[in-house]
Amino acid sequence: MNGAQVWWELNGELAQQGPGSDPSTLRALDALGPLPTTLQILDMGCGPGRQTRALAAATGAEVVALDRLAPFLGQLEREAERAGLANRIACVRGDMKQPPFRAQSFDLLWSEGAIYIPGFEAGLREWHRLLRPDGLVAVSELSWVASPPEETRAFWEAAYPEVADVEANRARAERAGYEVLESFGLPRGDWHAYYDPIEERAAGLRLAYADDPEALAVLSGHATEVSILEGSQGSYTYVFYLLRKR
Ligand code: SAM
Repeated sequence: MNGAQVWWELNGELAQQGPGSDPSTLRALDALGPLPTTLQILDMGCGPGRQTRALAAATGAEVVALDRLAPFLGQLEREAERAGLANRIACVRGDMKQPPFRAQSFDLLWSEGAIYIPGFEAGLREWHRLLRPDGLVAVSELSWVASPPEETRAFWEAAYPEVADVEANRARAERAGYEVLESFGLPRGDWHAYYDPIEERAAGLRLAYADDPEALAVLSGHATEVSILEGSQGSYTYVFYLLRKR
């Protein structure tokens, strides 16, 4: 078994690939204020598209959903079809670091748990050109919300050296050309929605791959992340940043 295969057994076909929930998605949407009546949304790093479907259902807008992994896009297409949303969700396979869209194509740019891939500030700078004048952005980013215990700080500074507190991320967004409208942290339940189904699978996979060091390394990477969250004393969460293009 190689690492990528066991990763897929752990994560494939889940409803979401990061912390989040429909109530948090809708809270972020609401915090953006009144939206244009015709609205084109781009969802960067959509994964299986829980939030893509929530946005399409709540707004009546057209949503373009971009991800680099075809199996996630296939899952989103099937679920959009089942929900009667297929005519308003267009899936695009591509790289969010070089998004394949013309300048000023979108009114609202969405990205849950994925802007860490280009990096928070680099992503906001790169994506700026895609927005029409006064275009809006909603992105969630892992952020310090209190002073972390030493082990927690060391883990995230090694795993994601760009990790920063909310104030620093708001300043980054301003430097990248946006006005910050609001920010709020995701509740703990949004982490459970992501981690709990993975944990259930991991228990069985640990037994199935007890003799496979590569598989066990993938499983232990996940277990470490969960235990870091448990010991974090609430010092980090994903924070939604709601922005307007200046
Ligand atoms: N937004 C989804 C959610 O919250 O369920 C997915 C979040 S997941 C942590 C990050 C997503 O980014 C994955 O679906 C992954 O395939 C996608 N991804 C990673 N690198 C990418 C890239 N360079 N371009 C486009 N998508 C990418």
